[in-house]
Amino acid sequence: MERYDVAIIGTGPAGLEAAITAKVRNKSVLLIGGKGSSDKVSKAHTIQNYLGLPDIAGEDMAKTFLDHAAKMGVEITEDKVNAIYSMGQYFAIQCHNGDYEASSVVVAAGMTAMKPFPGEMENLGRGVSYCATCDAALYKGKTAVIVAYSADEEPEAEFLAERAEKVYYLPQYEYAGNLGGNIEVTLDVKPESIEMKDGQAVVNAKDTSFTADGIFILREQIAPSQLVPGLEMDGNHIKVDRSMATNIKGLFAAGDITGAPYQYIKAAGEGNVAALSAVTYLNSLK
Ligand SMILES: Cc1cc2nc3c(=O)[nH]c(=O)nc-3n(C[C@H](O)[C@H](O)[C@H](O)COP(=O)(O)OP(=O)(O)OC[C@H]3O[C@@H](n4cnc5c(N)ncnc54)[C@H](O)[C@@H]3O)c2cc1C
Repeated sequence: MERYDVAIIGTGPAGLEAAITAKVRNKSVLLIGGKGSSDKVSKAHTIQNYLGLPDIAGEDMAKTFLDHAAKMGVEITEDKVNAIYSMGQYFAIQCHNGDYEASSVVVAAGMTAMKPFPGEMENLGRGVSYCATCDAALYKGKTAVIVAYSADEEPEAEFLAERAEKVYYLPQYEYAGNLGGNIEVTLDVKPESIEMKDGQAVVNAKDTSFTADGIFILREQIAPSQLVPGLEMDGNHIKVDRSMATNIKGLFAAGDITGAPYQYIKAAGEGNVAALSAVTYLNSLK
């Protein structure tokens, strides 16, 4: 398996700037995220405080960022990272569509406002999972509940349903009615907690509950402490020093994920610092 110098998670301003800086420093870069930059860039109305781009629509700023990255030879690997494991001299990066290796990592995955459900963390890996594609093989002839936060997760449900006997699908978004077969969709269910009962996983909601062999919670973003085991946090943010280093050697963080102020220029600046620190770290390995 190819081992990249730097893996960068997130294609917002922090991740794109980190990728450009690492490229300028001649490092091999794996940039993982969405092809169209971040929604927080492309969906912003008008931005007035980004140096050199006065009064620019979010959509235009996203295009400017992506064009710059493409011009520097930065390619985006369209995928979602489920977990990052420090293996000592390198990192193993587990994604929806495959696994990767890199000598250093910059986490630039933005901020998630979502708190895990009571019972979610305790049962992670023991009935609760974040990746249906990764675990589908374990569900042959079994049942599963999916709590999904975007229509983008529907192919995940279909893939799981090819293996599982039955899938209970609880959309947390405006559902357009695309799923069928052995996928039973129930609308307007707001999960409140998760528990394991007699070896079965249970999603509890107001006045109802769903029991199955396992639960998949498919959010756009995964909390950093769940993404990287052992990562030191400062509240909801990743704890970093001025070089954007975390408590895990070789792992850096940048952008909203490290804390306020939540601003494009701060995110891009931190992406730059994180990439330069990753380069210094890589040089120290030689
Ligand atoms: C409506 C709106 C308007 C705003 N206006 C302004 C403004 O005028 N000026 C200003 O300075 N700031 C503004 N902001 C704030 C600005 O959007 C953020 O500070 C900035 O986008 C942070 O950049 P980031 O790269 O840290 O994170 P993000 O832009 O959030 O990018 C993170 C990316 O990582 C991806 N990601 C997350 N988890 C994973 C994973 N597990 N695997 C792969 N990819 C993942 C996300 O999908 C996302 O694309 C605005 C924000 C909003 C919502």
